[in-house]
Amino acid sequence: MKTTRQITVLGATGSIGDSTLDVIARHPDRFQAFALTANHNVEKMRLQCRRFQPRYAVMLDAKCAEQLAGALRSDGIKTEVLCGIESLEKVASLPEVDAVMAAIVGAAGIRPTFAAARSGKLVLLANKETLVMAGRIFMDLVRKNNAALLPIDSEHNAIYQSLPHQFDGNFTRAGISRILLTASGGPFRCASIDSLEQVTPEQACAHPNWDMGKKISVDSATMMNKGLEVIEAHWLFDAPADKIQVVVHPQSVIHSMVAYVDGSVIAQLGNPDMRTPIAHAMGYPERIESGVSALDMFKVAQLNFEEPDFKRFPCLRLAYQALTTGGNMPAVLNAANEVAVESFLQRRMPFTAIPVMIENVMRTIEPEELTTLEDVLRTDHLAREKAHAWLATLQ
Ligand code: NAD
Ligand code: MG
Repeated sequence: MKTTRQITVLGATGSIGDSTLDVIARHPDRFQAFALTANHNVEKMRLQCRRFQPRYAVMLDAKCAEQLAGALRSDGIKTEVLCGIESLEKVASLPEVDAVMAAIVGAAGIRPTFAAARSGKLVLLANKETLVMAGRIFMDLVRKNNAALLPIDSEHNAIYQSLPHQFDGNFTRAGISRILLTASGGPFRCASIDSLEQVTPEQACAHPNWDMGKKISVDSATMMNKGLEVIEAHWLFDAPADKIQVVVHPQSVIHSMVAYVDGSVIAQLGNPDMRTPIAHAMGYPERIESGVSALDMFKVAQLNFEEPDFKRFPCLRLAYQALTTGGNMPAVLNAANEVAVESFLQRRMPFTAIPVMIENVMRTIEPEELTTLEDVLRTDHLAREKAHAWLATLQ
């Protein structure tokens, strides 16, 4: 008999949250939204609770939780409203939960994602920052607690689909020569380098192919997103840095590829819509409807490929550098990037200052090994302090 899977959606009001709920709504016999969480968007959470009637709704902010509880009472909805980071961890780990969609943006997602892995859940991982900040610790936690991990990031989901069944991380035994990580190149792929100084947050957030949250949109414009994804691929697939090749592919139809020693290259293709990787991971190992239209090859007509331009996109170079240094450096890179993106979005510094801030922070922090989540959070805090101090020198 088929049972309904209870799903916690961390970051339900975001772009991935929306797409996840869309897939859940298409399969009421398979999935039930058990808990939904958000930062402070009360109105959207209210609508989602009315539609999906989850057992729990968590707002990070206590005031927002109070407002939501009042609104749901007047709507006659029985969802229990909680607040705070401990409640995010709780709804990621309660025994009733089968799977957790980790779709909070940024470092804020790390604690509830860890909680899901610690309690042996199926973790559907969109929050790449968890792997960037704490890749080794997180992967160990997944193994130790018999959790399962499926990648939601479209590239990593494509790689997962292109790898041999039950790939164990041994590239040689599997005959893999390289992972080809595709990148759209973002909105400034062809802009003159001089014009980047004047870029506005609106221009940076206008991605040519994907509709995403603001932070990841800016990351795509700087190509830091691809840098973070190189680190993510390293931990997910045990891939050494020199076996991960970034390939700029402006159409975003091939979502990534795996090259084998016999010359074969296996790719996953599809329209750029996150519901495909979400439905793949949620239904795994079965294939289920996602609502995404079939790829029309005649409309696509052409697939182009270019080498990445490390001069135009210094963030990509910094991410490879952080991965090669290892230890705390990817967490430092991630924290400095979050402060840099936020400062750019608040118009406190130009687009071109983003890599300058990150490189500066990376230079001021000594490399060291991290062994616990607390170490990671301490590093994150320190790097943010250094980034803010650097920003203050600009003003
Ligand atoms: P988004 O900004 O649209 O949504 C973020 C969600 O996180 C919202 O629900 C928000 O309420 C919640 N949130 C924000 N700050 C929080 C905090 N401090 N505490 C608790 N909750 C908080 O972001 P998104 O584009 O959906 O991205 C989510 C994650 O998925 C990111 O890690 C991103 O890198 C990854 N991802 C997104 C896409 C995409 O297409 N959007 C693709 C691949 C990977
Ligand atoms: Mg991606």
